[in-house]
Amino acid sequence: MVKHRSEAEPPPTNVCEKPGCTKRTRERKFYCPEHIMEDENGYPRMLERKLLEVEDEINKARIVGPRAVDPRGTVTKEIMTGISLVGTITWRRLLKDHVAFLNSVDGAVSSAYLTRLKQEGLIQVRSSKRQDPVVSLTPKGVEFREGASS
Ligand SMILES: [Zn+2]
Repeated sequence: MVKHRSEAEPPPTNVCEKPGCTKRTRERKFYCPEHIMEDENGYPRMLERKLLEVEDEINKARIVGPRAVDPRGTVTKEIMTGISLVGTITWRRLLKDHVAFLNSVDGAVSSAYLTRLKQEGLIQVRSSKRQDPVVSLTPKGVEFREGASS
């Protein structure tokens, strides 16, 4: 579902952080297009914020378990997107190839995600011979993912 911006509702904007510049920025950036090249820390700052968010999300999953997993969180979004790219895939392969955030976490964390997404009815889990479940999106999962990415 693509939402179009209407003329009546301008998107939220910030003003450029360059002293003396009053231009508006786009896409929540810190600087206007003219000064963005001078913001050496812009991308690292954004990335750092994102990583802290993800770290927090993963820690909660590790400590609390499945119920701490946020179905709308960044990691979940990565998982759902990864599955939707390939359709059906083993869980291990999915984490290794498509979910960078989880490719080096311990089993407790990844099974917290697996369990929660299954409980939410977003993914379908089939067991394969080698203890490595095969996952795919349920119709609800497909709908959820499309809603989340708009
Ligand atoms: Zn500017």
